[in-house]
Order: sequence, then C-alpha cells, then structure tokens
Amino acid sequence: FHTFTKAQIKAAVAQAYDEAKQVTGGENAHYIPYLANVDPSLFGLSVCLADGTRFSMGDTSSVFGIESVSKVPTAALVMEQSGAETVRKDIGADATGLPFNSVLAVCLENDRPSTPLVNAGAMAACSMVEPQGQAEGKWREIRQNIEALCGSPVAVIDELYRSESATNFQNRSIAWLLKDYGRLYDDVEMSVDLYTRQCSLGVTAEQLAIMAATIANGGENPVTGERVFAEKLAGPLTSLIATVGFYQNTGDWLYESGIPAKTGVGGAVLGVMPGLFGVCAFAPPLDGAGNSVRGQAAVKALMRILDLSIFDAR
Ligand code: GLN
Repeated sequence: FHTFTKAQIKAAVAQAYDEAKQVTGGENAHYIPYLANVDPSLFGLSVCLADGTRFSMGDTSSVFGIESVSKVPTAALVMEQSGAETVRKDIGADATGLPFNSVLAVCLENDRPSTPLVNAGAMAACSMVEPQGQAEGKWREIRQNIEALCGSPVAVIDELYRSESATNFQNRSIAWLLKDYGRLYDDVEMSVDLYTRQCSLGVTAEQLAIMAATIANGGENPVTGERVFAEKLAGPLTSLIATVGFYQNTGDWLYESGIPAKTGVGGAVLGVMPGLFGVCAFAPPLDGAGNSVRGQAAVKALMRILDLSIFDAR
C-alpha cells in the first residue's frame, strides 16, 4: 500500500466510521420478513489490505445475511469451473440499469440474462455450477468457495432461508422464464433453491472484507494464503462488480465513490480496490434501490479520506 502507512489507513477507517455513523435514513428490506426484523442500528466497517492486515470498527463480527453479495463468489466459481468466456457467452457481462429482481433482465441481451450479478444471471450462474444435476454437490462447491474467499466457515441462517423460500415468487418466475429462453442450465427449482440458500448465508463484515481483499489480491486469499481462483479472472470479476454492483444506481455510485462495489439487501457494501484492499461496510437500512445507506456513506468516506479512485491517473 505504497503511499500510506498502516497507521494512516487505520485512522482513515476510524474517521470514515465516525462520519458514516452520523448518517441516518433508509429502511430495512421489508420484502423478506427476516430482514425486516434485524436491528437497524447495527453498523460495522472492516478493511483488509492486500497483505492481509485488517482494520475493523463497530459491529464487524455480527452475523447478517450475505444476500446479493453472494452473486460475486458464485460468479467467480462458475468462471473458474467453466471459463470466463463460457460464462460471458451463456450469461453475459453487461450492466442492466434495472432493479436487482427485474424480470426484464432475463432477456436483455439476445435472450441472455446479461450479468451474473443480478437475480436472473445469478440463478443462471447457480444452474451452471458443477457437478450438474447434483444439488448437494453444487451446494458444497458454492459454500466451500465462499468459505475459501472469506477464509473461515459460513452457515445458512435457517430462519432467513425459510423466510426467503416462502416469499421468492418473483425469483421463481424469473427462473422459469430463463428456462423458456434456454438460459437456465440445470433443474429450475434446484437452481432457485441454490440461489436462495446462498443468499441466506450468514457472514460478518470482517469475512466479506477478506473476500473483497481476495479479489483485490488477484484471487489469492491474503489471510490464509490459499489461491481461490485464477489470477486472470480478477479483472473480469471486478469489471462485473463495477458495471452493475449497485443495480440502477451503479453509474452514480462509481462516479461518486471511485470504487467497484457490490451490495446486498442484508445491508452489506463490499468494495474492491484492485491491488490495494477490500472493504465491507454493513448497516441494514437501505435506500430505494436496496443499497445500504450508511454502508455507502462509510465506503465513500473512506475513499475520500484516502483520496483514492480506481480512475485516478496518479
Ligand atoms: N435474496 C434476495 C433476492 O433475491 C437478494 C437481493 C439483494 O440482495 N439485492 O431478492
């Protein structure tokens, strides 16, 4: 981390946390009953440098639903298993400019869902996971991949899983439409269930910061030393995050923050600063697009305080 001392980064994390703590507004996700009841005052900010050094403030050990952040590791998994080009051909790599659960995302690009980082493409990605046709084998791959990226075990929050399974009619509809378009590559209900299960995994901000740092570090987990995916996939994966990580608000996010980031309706914002660090801010209340209000404020403040942007010419 060339120009900063670790003490400076630590101070920047503390300052970003304090600033974002003043930011209020937003509401917990209401369409998933479990999420509506999570303590809205929880707030954590965790940074993991590309050398594995970590700085955490606030509720960074609280377990919360990973939700749509899970789309990132499973995209990495299918890219690793089937190759980036196959994933691009069978799903796509373009922004949708649409809400995460848009049915229109099914057929944006020549009948392709267009990106593994919205619900349609994420369910297509779950359908691509090997071994084909084997729900438990696929689930093992999905979960173990997430654990390798985080560097520690994760488990489904059963109540969240039940809550989502009982209310995911839109996702099931999207999946059946994908099937009709020939863009769902395994059993439909199984693919929806795998997606729902991965969204229901409990994680901490510290774990997601390590996941982000693993991506920033080219696929090698800087804490465990394990290579999780091929180095050449880090750029393509980060480009997917940059183009659609905030759904219809992605352009504004990238413009204002300067860091590719992916959100989840559990309240996470996972940011990837290639070669430098990964960051995760967690706070449940969301804006209208389903992105954490305080989480956005924290990551933006961190980038501003460090005077960093991936677009910086320096
Ligand atoms: N499980 C949620 C859904 O599919 C995840 C959405 C999100 O985090 N944006 O609706």
